[in-house]
Amino acid sequence: MSRNTSTPTTAAALAVALLGLTACTTAEASPTPHTAGTLQPGTAGIGDRIHPGLGNGGYDVRHYALDLRFAMDLKHYTATSTVQARASQALSRFNLDLTGATVREVTVDGRKARWSRSGEELQVTPDVPLRRDERFTVRVRVQAPVLDTEQVTKLDVGASYGMVRHGSWIQTSNQPSGAHRIAALADHPAQKTPATITVTAPTKLNSIANGELTATSHHGAYTTRRFESRQKLATELLQIGIGPFTVVHQQGPHGIKLRYALPTNQARSIEPQLNKTVPEAIRFLEQRLGQGTFPLRTYGVYATPLGGELETQSLALLAADSLAPKAYVDNGTDTVVEHEISHEYFGNSVSPRRWSDAWLNEGHAVYYQNLWTAREHGTSVEDAMRGMYQDADANLRKEGPIAAPHRRAFQPQAMAPYGWTAYQGGALTLYALRQKVGETDFQRIERAWIREHRDGVAGTDDYIRLAGRVTGQDLGPFLRSWLYGEKVPAMPGRPDWHA
Ligand SMILES: [Zn+2]
Repeated sequence: MSRNTSTPTTAAALAVALLGLTACTTAEASPTPHTAGTLQPGTAGIGDRIHPGLGNGGYDVRHYALDLRFAMDLKHYTATSTVQARASQALSRFNLDLTGATVREVTVDGRKARWSRSGEELQVTPDVPLRRDERFTVRVRVQAPVLDTEQVTKLDVGASYGMVRHGSWIQTSNQPSGAHRIAALADHPAQKTPATITVTAPTKLNSIANGELTATSHHGAYTTRRFESRQKLATELLQIGIGPFTVVHQQGPHGIKLRYALPTNQARSIEPQLNKTVPEAIRFLEQRLGQGTFPLRTYGVYATPLGGELETQSLALLAADSLAPKAYVDNGTDTVVEHEISHEYFGNSVSPRRWSDAWLNEGHAVYYQNLWTAREHGTSVEDAMRGMYQDADANLRKEGPIAAPHRRAFQPQAMAPYGWTAYQGGALTLYALRQKVGETDFQRIERAWIREHRDGVAGTDDYIRLAGRVTGQDLGPFLRSWLYGEKVPAMPGRPDWHA
């Protein structure tokens, strides 16, 4: 892919700045005293080793709004993304992430902007260059087909396909790199912001998205619903759903609102399982992570015929059939429900700084899922961890270190780093830490982690530092040997375990 990821040298930067100025209108052709710093284009990515094109340099995102309007047959849509941002450098040009869709219009602060496309980047040249610290609003209107399941399979991007249509259903699965298939966005969790999502869909169907429903308006054959995420929402966690579903409302622990979007013809049979598991899983996590710490005021599930298992924020995507009474018991779906709920702390509230930090999402989710399974189904956490430990060296050889996996090891690469190292490797690392410092200190680390980085972005180094500070021990060498080693270290307190 043609990407402008390198940092220009000073001479190159000047040349680029000059080119940028020449290309723009003359209003600010010579830098005024307000133009702090040299004009440069923003970089195409934010320096993510695994996904170098995701996110965009040169600005901080303050808010994004997505306005999606679907055709009656759900086969096409128009998406307008409105991104409010602040320039972190003087910008001659900047990028958004976008692939697949057709661009119809780009404006910056209401004025038409020039744009071009390069690989999965949309390059936007504002009419007037942006000063450092200047706030601006970029709006991009695109049109695109909603791909069906067959077309999505051909993309060969695994579960990172963006939106998919399946009969009269639409669902969204972006993690880690699919959101810029939907609309032009800064598609990296480190650039998450509060968000407004507006969905206009046929009135005969229902629609839903992350956050709280704040407005509904009917206009003939179409209905528009607006959803607000006051918590910052990473693009990888977007959920946009349309289909013949019913939304059931329930009360969760201490006033948390629960909403389940369930296929209308299965709602009655699915709801009892969710009523049993969801409030209890929130209580279970709060017992360990602190009363009243659950990051959301509204939590829910979007169950569809196609489904998947994805922690889309405040509205986890699940397969409807796996929630039916018999399958729920046979498959142990409660453990999946708990896993996705734990992501509201790990991954959604505390988002990864870079994609190689994904072990902090999945490792935690697997770790707490194992505690839940032990309590609910009488399994042994030790047995589960020993099983993972036995597989460790083979998987580290294949995927690379837990906190530094190799992109090339993942098939398809769009799904990197979702593999053994993030899930089992991450859980094993947390278990090893718990073995080393004991349950009391481990809980103190975990509680500090979700408290200090709530609604924020944090990475591996932050976790290592925090663990050391909370326990008063230098845990750096220990944790690094787990996270960056090519071979699995000895498990504290388990001398009989062999990889
Ligand atoms: Zn997970």
